[in-house]
Amino acid sequence: MPRILPFALVVLLISSVVSRGAEEDILLTKDGHSTCVIYDDAHAPASVQEAAKELQRVLKIATGAPLPIVHAPGEAMIALGDTPETRQAGIESARMADEHFEIKTQGKQVFIAGRDTKDGEVTQEGGVTDGTYNGVMEFLERYVGARWLMPGGWGEDVPARPTLTLPVIAIQDGPDFASRSMTISFGGVSGPWRRHLRVAPNRQPIIRTEFNHAWDKYDMPARLKGHPEYMALVHGERTKIEDWHPEMQGMKFCTTNEGLIELYANALMEEMAKKPAQQMWSIAPSDGGGWCECEKCTALDEPCDWPGNRMYGKTSKTRRVVTFYNAVARRVKARYPDKVLGGYLYAAYTYPSVDATPIESNLFLMLASRPYYGFTLYQDELAKEAPRLIDAWDGKMKGRMGWVDYSTYVGLKTPVGAPYPPGKAILKLLFPALHQRGWQAMYWSSSFNVQGWGSLHNYLTAKLLWHADADVDALAAEWLERAYGPGGVQMGQVYDLLEQKLAAYKQANPKEYQYRAIPEQVKAIHLPLFPQMEVLYREALAKAQTDAQRRRLEMFGDNLVLLNWNMRQAGWLEKPETSAFYRSDADFKTFVEQHSASPSISTTNAKPEIYLKPQLGTGPSAPAAVDK
Ligand SMILES: [Zn+2]
Repeated sequence: MPRILPFALVVLLISSVVSRGAEEDILLTKDGHSTCVIYDDAHAPASVQEAAKELQRVLKIATGAPLPIVHAPGEAMIALGDTPETRQAGIESARMADEHFEIKTQGKQVFIAGRDTKDGEVTQEGGVTDGTYNGVMEFLERYVGARWLMPGGWGEDVPARPTLTLPVIAIQDGPDFASRSMTISFGGVSGPWRRHLRVAPNRQPIIRTEFNHAWDKYDMPARLKGHPEYMALVHGERTKIEDWHPEMQGMKFCTTNEGLIELYANALMEEMAKKPAQQMWSIAPSDGGGWCECEKCTALDEPCDWPGNRMYGKTSKTRRVVTFYNAVARRVKARYPDKVLGGYLYAAYTYPSVDATPIESNLFLMLASRPYYGFTLYQDELAKEAPRLIDAWDGKMKGRMGWVDYSTYVGLKTPVGAPYPPGKAILKLLFPALHQRGWQAMYWSSSFNVQGWGSLHNYLTAKLLWHADADVDALAAEWLERAYGPGGVQMGQVYDLLEQKLAAYKQANPKEYQYRAIPEQVKAIHLPLFPQMEVLYREALAKAQTDAQRRRLEMFGDNLVLLNWNMRQAGWLEKPETSAFYRSDADFKTFVEQHSASPSISTTNAKPEIYLKPQLGTGPSAPAAVDK
């Protein structure tokens, strides 16, 4: 029977009102045969038709039975979306909240229906809702046992069940966050994965947020010419717009200059006039430093003793940024009262100002707390601070807030091969805290290592975006077992060792803010753990029972080949050739060429040369001596 599903705890169960004695379990398929059909309306929205095809495909894999998709009700059927029969069964999808759904059995019939936007229609917030599709994914996970563990073909895990019996079902469910974005992409393989896990941006989320560094947008570089006084004063000189180019960060304004505010607001409103359908527009500062040092601008800076702000020298730039946001927002509100302006609270403007000036009601701010990037929340001081920070902004913004997260992120611009853990303690801290305050817009950065060590992190994050209070440990344990088979136990130990070592490193190095595998981190975390990781990994691999389990493990192991080579190049290994992950330089070159298009080790379609450069620096031990 179905495995124990952690999210069952948080799903509203109303089945108790149905007498189990009165209704029998439904025999959906027997020995690979079925009389059941999949029924949807011939004019159902594309998302419902997509759900019908996916239901058919996965049921065929699980049971062997090809259930036909029909547009007329059958005696035994799985009915999808809003139909007269569904309404007769008591499911009123039109009354449901966006993205919500209901699954219900009645006699030999299963009804799965949710709130769906018709093709071309949008919700009040300008997004789309695919409730029925969500319901079908829930059905496949919960009652058929399907899992999408990682992107790509190896990620799908559908257990064989030639005879599939369904219990009496009556559930309603929907997401905890209306806007669930995850940034991953690798040659398109992540698109279907995100769709299965019900995260954007395959489809527009209900709340469409627009937030990005936007000071160089709206044709500003051209408009600023002839106004040197509008640019930031740095080291006594105005930065020159002529020197600025798109790849460069940090084009900053003198935001206390009224003319600049007027120019920026007008530039923005000209764009708004050109795109009347766009609801939200970003006005967030450029990334990086280069803030204006003029007297009026610096007068707005405030002392800030929040622990995390030590990154920025105990001074906060929040008041100057929010003052600018407010000034632009007032101008826009006068002409476009329905438009929403998006902004960041980030870097030196992460922490709230002590100034009690209200923040304009047409602003929606995304908190991207840079001090928490890259696992720093393993530090007790910051872990205690985070809920206070969320509360402080929530009090000022009254719900008009979203979260941008890099707290469990490792940038992979330097492909070292060092595996990182999912950061379970951090996920457990942040998701419930954000959900409790009712924040709806979530943007979670995911690991680019989509089929190697990063896939567990991505899976947990996607699940938590749906239900913030889901049991992280139970989800992780299930994922390890489903992905790696019996060796999931050993791999769980590998991840736990990495969590412990990384946590200890972050606690011991509170002023190290890097969120990529820098040599100092790898030397402190991965170098001492490598022999133990190797033993556990090889034990796990020896226990693999299926090709899929073996392949998924190897995609983790590919990283250790890369890491062994890099540590050898850095001169950190006394006897590198004793490791099973050792490759001679010639073999390593072949390995890299074979894996250059693999999501198991790379960032995006990286060229082999990137991997063939040592990423941890060079050291005294000459690799040639051990090469054959
Ligand atoms: Zn200034």
